[in-house]
Amino acid sequence: MKTAIAIAAHPDDIELMMAGTLLLLKKQGYEINYMNLSSGNVGTVEYDSETIKEIRLREAQKSAAILGAHFHPPFCNDLEIFYDEKTLRRLASVIREVKPNIVLTHSPADYMEDHTNTSRLAVTATFARGMPNFISVPSRIHENYDCTIYHALPHTLRDALRKPVIAGSFVNVTSVQEIKLEALKAHQSQQNWLDISQKLNSYLQTMEDISLKVGRMSKKFTYAEGWRRHLHYGFCRPDEDPLKNLGNDYLINQEYEKNFEEKF
Ligand SMILES: [Zn+2]
Repeated sequence: MKTAIAIAAHPDDIELMMAGTLLLLKKQGYEINYMNLSSGNVGTVEYDSETIKEIRLREAQKSAAILGAHFHPPFCNDLEIFYDEKTLRRLASVIREVKPNIVLTHSPADYMEDHTNTSRLAVTATFARGMPNFISVPSRIHENYDCTIYHALPHTLRDALRKPVIAGSFVNVTSVQEIKLEALKAHQSQQNWLDISQKLNSYLQTMEDISLKVGRMSKKFTYAEGWRRHLHYGFCRPDEDPLKNLGNDYLINQEYEKNFEEKF
């Protein structure tokens, strides 16, 4: 069976930027997996760290169940996702367990370091999937096979230096937008917190607005998620783009692709 995994930093990041694509892959017969590296322990002004960790673990598990995804528990804390050996070995173990054909993760450049580091960790943990001398923790057997990595758009659709980021391709998530919304609602503790901390008018409306904006960028779909495919070296064949399996719900951005006309 084909397998996909979304690897994000915080509980709710998958729902904001990646969940629609996961749901469509599931419809295509993929087994889907859901993982946030961080417990979400800082996302509160009401609870202590241990209490909010438990609340957010339950919320994330509920969301994964709504999406029909296998849940993988976090092993970092907020603002403590570091590109370090310990985290890399643990994430490599998850990759070897899941054996994903598709990895969905954050943009390589995003507004905060937890996202950027998660993206780097996901890339290297996947890169090491077939390397016997890189020991994962817990130790799992290495295996070389094709895997394609896609980076989501940054949260604000701009990088940390405010430059707009252009998607290399778009996925039409209109048919699954309601399920995305249900999954996001599972993160109930976050609705107050984000309204206070980031002056978002509405947690749920934010996801709607992002999906609509990316839809407008596609010039084709109402609600969309945008992706940039990682360079194939060390991962898969040069032209491997398995999101094409989504058929008419997938659109390659020719404006982006024309920058890459030189063939490897
Ligand atoms: Zn986040």
